[in-house]
Order: sequence, then structure tokens, then C-alpha cells
Amino acid sequence: MMTQTMRAAVFEGEGRLGIREVDVPRVGAPDDVLLAVRAAGICGTDVHILAVPPGHPATAGVVMGHEYAADVLAVGDRVDHVHPGDRVVVDPSVWCGTCAYCQMGLTNLCDRMTGIGIFRHGGFAPFSLVPARAVYRIAASVAPETAALAEPLADVVNGLSKVRVVPGESALVLGAGPIGLLFTLLLRAAGVSPLLVAEVSSFRAGHAAACGADLIINPKDVDLAAAVRRATVLGADVVVDAVGMLLEDALRCVRKGGRVLLFGMHEHARPAVKQYDITKYEIQILGTYIARGTFPLAIRLLEAGRIDFGALVTHRLPLTRIHDGIDLLRQGQAVKVAILP
Ligand SMILES: [Zn+2]
Ligand SMILES: [Zn+2]
Repeated sequence: MMTQTMRAAVFEGEGRLGIREVDVPRVGAPDDVLLAVRAAGICGTDVHILAVPPGHPATAGVVMGHEYAADVLAVGDRVDHVHPGDRVVVDPSVWCGTCAYCQMGLTNLCDRMTGIGIFRHGGFAPFSLVPARAVYRIAASVAPETAALAEPLADVVNGLSKVRVVPGESALVLGAGPIGLLFTLLLRAAGVSPLLVAEVSSFRAGHAAACGADLIINPKDVDLAAAVRRATVLGADVVVDAVGMLLEDALRCVRKGGRVLLFGMHEHARPAVKQYDITKYEIQILGTYIARGTFPLAIRLLEAGRIDFGALVTHRLPLTRIHDGIDLLRQGQAVKVAILP
């Protein structure tokens, strides 16, 4: 039988993403699931991978795309939790199940983690082959480009499960990219007040307002900590760093006894913090990394339709225009770009 080919967006090494003809994958292993990709989001991580020098590692030759929704086309013999015709979302972080951390249930800290769309083929293609444990069923009533937000949303829910926000508490979100806006939407729904967002881009500030922020502060124009004190008196109960290099700002804005959630990641960030203040003011600093057991919660949020996550998808592009989507993100002129292969 002749192998069929498809067009896919392939990481070709430092700074290069090419549209290439590659083989259409086929079910081989008993736990394989073959997917027809319906929508795949471009993530900040993709932009980091394609930066020169790269801000995130990836394997050359791999089909990129790790935030996607798809229809199941075929499954291996041992797959019984999804069936052909099901709409699914993909958890791209494939943990091993046998290392010390997986055996403690800390699967997001797996010593042998691999990433779909980063170290093995992902979703910037019409078809994708993934292991059974990576797919979760989602109602077809959720638009595919909205369903493709399940991965970042599951990560954000994991982060929020650590800060345990109480209604009526105040919060400050640093950065209004897709992650910061997902935090904003969920903190609004959780009854946070006031809800503050710090953002320098006016395009993103507009989206933060639409997501329910009470006050958007541009730290280039005003003193951030002073503005937060004016709005909250004591400082924010909770501060989320959605950027990954703003721990100093977070510590200036959080109240005594408050919590700082570190979500964003920036490999070269080396903040100069005054450890004395963290001790004396009993600041809790919480790191959070990707999703752990939170895909079902994210899917329920998407299916419930109570929160308008779809508003974060500002652009829909065919695969052949993926470079335009990446440029829009680099210029800060998009929130979430969905590729429709
Ligand atoms: Zn991502
Ligand atoms: Zn493991």
C-alpha cells in the first residue's frame, strides 16, 4: 500500500519552522490513537522554541503543536476509553509511570517526561498519532479552537488549586498573555475583588478588561506597588506571575502573609530577592508546573460554557499561514492563535 503524505509544520532546527510533506501516521501499537486535528493553538512555548537562541529545547524534525483538539479516527486494540468519532483534547506531557515521582503520583514532575509537539510529533498537521493516556474526551459542542485551550487551562487550574483563593480576596495577575487572561477569567469567577492586572501592552490590557479585571496597571507609566496599595490597602492577597521573571514585583505587591504563585517560566531569570522580607512577612511562594490531574476539571469548565474562554482566540489561520500567527504573537498583536489544519 502506498504511504499517504500530509503537510505539517516541522521544527527544522534553530529558529526554523518549515511546512513539509510528511507521512500520515498509522495505528501500530495497541495503545495508539490516530487523530484528525481540528484546531491547534500556538503557544508562547512554540515562540520560545523558534527564538534564536532558543528559549526552550525541542527535537529537530518533529511536527510541532501541543495544544490541540481532534476527532478520533482509529484506535489500537487495547484502547477502550475513546472511540472513532469522539472529539478529544490532548495532554501533551507524557509521563513514564514508573519513575520515583510518577510512583508518588507527582506525574508532572516525572524524571522521564516527554512532550508531544516538542520532542515527538504533535498537532500542527491534519493527522496526529498519540498514546491513549494523552487523550481526554470533550463534548463536540465546544468549538475546536476553544477546546484546544484545555491544555493551558488545565495548567492554570493546577496553579489555582495551590493558592486556594477564597471569595472576597484580592489578586494581582502579572502579565495578560493567554495564561494571565485565563487566570483573570478564573479569579473573576472565583469572586476575587479587587482583581488587578499588570500589563504593558495596550492590546492585551484591553483583553484583560474584557476578562473582568477591575483595574489594569501599566507598570511603565505608574509605580506598580503603589498602585496595588491604593487599590488593596495592604497589598494583594494573591499575586500570580504569569510571565516568569517578575518575582521581585510580586514580592513588592503581595501583602504580609500573602501567596505568590510562580507560573510563567523564563530560563534566564535571576531575580534579586530580599530573603529577609519573605521570612519576616511570612510570604508563601508556590511554584506550579503544567497539569496534574486537572484535565477533567478544565474540560468541565469548557463544557459548562459559563466562562467565555473562546474570546481568547483572536485569530484562526490555516496551517500554511502559521508563520503569520507566530509573528502576530511575537508582536503582541494576538492573544491565542488557532491553526486549523
Ligand atoms: Zn503550551
Ligand atoms: Zn515518570
